[in-house]
Amino acid sequence: MTVDPVNTARGDRSDASVLSSLFGRRPRLLVVDDQPANVQVLYRLFADDHQVLMATSGEQALRVCAEQRPDLVLLDVVMPGMNGYEVCARLRSDPSTSGIPVIFVTAERDEESETRGLDLGAVDFIPKPINPRVVRARVRTHLTLKAQSDLLREWVYIDGLTRIANRRLFEERVVAEWSRAVRQGTPLSTLMIDVDHFKAFNDRYGHLAGDECLARVAATLKAVLKRPTDLLARYGGEEFVCLLPDTDLAGALDVANGLRQAMAAAAIPHGASAVASTVTVSVGACAKPADVVGSAAALVREADAQLYVAKSRGRDRACGGELGGA
Ligand code: GH3
Ligand code: MG
Ligand code: MG
Repeated sequence: MTVDPVNTARGDRSDASVLSSLFGRRPRLLVVDDQPANVQVLYRLFADDHQVLMATSGEQALRVCAEQRPDLVLLDVVMPGMNGYEVCARLRSDPSTSGIPVIFVTAERDEESETRGLDLGAVDFIPKPINPRVVRARVRTHLTLKAQSDLLREWVYIDGLTRIANRRLFEERVVAEWSRAVRQGTPLSTLMIDVDHFKAFNDRYGHLAGDECLARVAATLKAVLKRPTDLLARYGGEEFVCLLPDTDLAGALDVANGLRQAMAAAAIPHGASAVASTVTVSVGACAKPADVVGSAAALVREADAQLYVAKSRGRDRACGGELGGA
């Protein structure tokens, strides 16, 4: 009787689908070995339920990592040219690839080699010749850890109630976009958005309904933003903030009025508002013209000041100004 080691190692199919749902796609593996036959064995083992990328040199492996961001690398140690240790060290030293776990697949099983690999940041060692069951089990373990750490990292930037970006992401982005706008001489705008008479909403309908309302407001506002670089975040309480790269004041006010129209169309009843029968927002806009100096903090401060103007002029409106403008 012949036993196909690949098929007998496939008992864990449901684990693979759990992994796919954690990642939201098939897990992406990179197999690196200078011997094409070794690459083929691993390819056959994972191809059914993983996306398998392949490289036959260290240099090629680095290129694939930079371009395709695999979730895990199975890395041969002994290769002509750049060896596995060096590939691992380079992946670790680049912030864009340092989060990719590396498993060494190697015939070198002495303590010295193993310690060296682990010191370089490898997560595991798999001996050659490979045992398919062991390889699948270890890959599954490390892919699960990778998926969990990816999710955690994402959640750090997401607001729990509204599921949109949180203030932390906005604070990081606005500083980065400010530098980019100064460097490239492009405009940049922010909108500060505040729900009108929201305390009265809570008092009338209850805090839980208030929470639901905020989630609806977030979804309504978010649907208005069309460019992939636009960001809507919850700034805190019933305040939201929008970051609009490459957008001048006229564009920012267009977006602001689009947000107000979307709120009107959503028509969330608000029987206790003094300005309308549905939930409305006030918006303060501030734009950095192409050539102005200042800071990201000033941009946000001025948007907040413009929001205050919109509130004092009667709410349910957008007001705006330019940074450093006359
Ligand atoms: P204005 O038109 O001037 O903005 O009036 P307002 O009532 O909206 O403003 P105020 O700042 O007086 O009240 C904000 C209210 O928002 C008070 C607070 O309880 C409520 N709020 C803040 N965060 C949340 C939240 O996460 N859930 C709920 N349900 N309410 C919240
Ligand atoms: Mg407020
Ligand atoms: Mg308010």
